[in-house]
Amino acid sequence: MPDTPLVVDWDGTVTEVDGLHLVLLEFGDAEIYEAHESRLGRELTLQEVIAGEFESVRAPLPEVLGWMRENARLRAGFREFARRHRPLIVSSGFHELIEPVLEREGLELEVRANRLDPRPEGWRVLFRPQATCAVCGEPCKRADVVALDGFVYVGDGYSDRCVAEAAKRVFARDGLATYLAERGVEFEPFTDFVDLETRL
Ligand SMILES: [Mg+2]
Ligand SMILES: [Zn+2]
Repeated sequence: MPDTPLVVDWDGTVTEVDGLHLVLLEFGDAEIYEAHESRLGRELTLQEVIAGEFESVRAPLPEVLGWMRENARLRAGFREFARRHRPLIVSSGFHELIEPVLEREGLELEVRANRLDPRPEGWRVLFRPQATCAVCGEPCKRADVVALDGFVYVGDGYSDRCVAEAAKRVFARDGLATYLAERGVEFEPFTDFVDLETRL
């Protein structure tokens, strides 16, 4: 499928471990984090959870970036995969935390993500404008791909649920795979980008 657009989630999909979770555990408040995660999708929207969790981070951004560049590990084969296919990255995370890692890997990719206002009294999240999704009723990644016709989606988590159902082919792992399986939505499991490359 050489001309099919590829759309890839960042945290937990490109990265081996969700970088937002890592930052929150390293620099945020673990109790606030647990309290928000347990209410996700029930009492709180994804944006409310992200905003509430990151308010507990007060470290200077350069310190977090230094830590991120050292600790963010990418799944096997991503660099080669990205050079070949130029995927669009759609993330509920932040340009500020994604771009330094791409730079470390020598990659320049189009990224749709949110931005940070890292105030010393607690980080504020500047969400990108996303219309409320007609399918899930929240601002959602579908808004990032409306212009794409028949895309392949690669993801792992909560923020990928709705957009994955709009894709013509889905590669999923972890929570996203469980969710799609429970709903009877067709997907292909993947382990890393070496594996994925052989199946495109
Ligand atoms: Mg993810
Ligand atoms: Zn949606």
